[in-house]
Amino acid sequence: MTAEAIGLEALPVLGSLSPSRAGDFMTCPLLFRYRTIDRLPQAPSSAATRGTLVHAVLERLFDLPAGERTPESAADLLAPEWEKLKETAPEVTGLFTDEAEVATWLASAKQLLNGYFALEDPRRLEPAERETYVEVVLPGGLRLRGIVDRLDVAPSGAMRVCDYKTGRSPGESFEGKALFQMKFYAFVLWRTRGTIPKRLQLMYLGDRQVLTYEPDERDLLAVERKLLALWEAIERATQLRDFKPNPSRLCEWCDHQPFCPEKGGTLLPWPSVVPDPDEPEARHVAAAARQA
Ligand code: SF4
Repeated sequence: MTAEAIGLEALPVLGSLSPSRAGDFMTCPLLFRYRTIDRLPQAPSSAATRGTLVHAVLERLFDLPAGERTPESAADLLAPEWEKLKETAPEVTGLFTDEAEVATWLASAKQLLNGYFALEDPRRLEPAERETYVEVVLPGGLRLRGIVDRLDVAPSGAMRVCDYKTGRSPGESFEGKALFQMKFYAFVLWRTRGTIPKRLQLMYLGDRQVLTYEPDERDLLAVERKLLALWEAIERATQLRDFKPNPSRLCEWCDHQPFCPEKGGTLLPWPSVVPDPDEPEARHVAAAARQA
């Protein structure tokens, strides 16, 4: 069952959600508003930029012949990928005051790559897809979209969805939240390709842990219900122009504290133009999601 076969392409798009935007709303509706509706810029962080760099290296690594996918080759890719990143996002150079800082930061990225090699041997893998954009439009007009880091397909056709995280693995009580993103992808793949992925795999390079899950139809239908309910809540908040702040320990990393009443800031007036749901999001939002 493909998207074309069930006529999803023709559906009008009334809204759009990615796992990170859905996660924003669940974490803090005001954070969602500032990122998605106001599109406030976010300053790049060294951790998020490192996440982007490590993802780029891991993607390029699989361009090499299988036998050459070694820790040394991955380390050799760091400098050229860093140069490319500076070209596409020149503001990242402002993260460092001198070359010594850059060298220390690149060394920490190398450590993360070593973490990757502790988890699997890429010489024994041939991914079917990398950095794959997936999307589906639900009958009510909600577009679900995202980028899957890696999709492995076994000769039997069984799919494994892999995602690299440059942070540390979550505690047991936060595993469900971490898996939400993967179930989101699994749902979209199921709807567009007609098969439920066999396994979801989160690889935490920071502490060299792997979190896996085997989803079933019930899980994915529950994800669909959750996303529809979430979208309804977002539409309601938009109509009322009322996105409530929800303070948590994550506020510490929030760039929008000056505009957050919970942090003594002043709420920004509602923007005069609400962006089209299909307009691309700010690059740093995507980068921040990489680090999570
Ligand atoms: S500071 Fe906290 S409560 Fe305020 S917008 Fe940011 S995440 Fe939400």
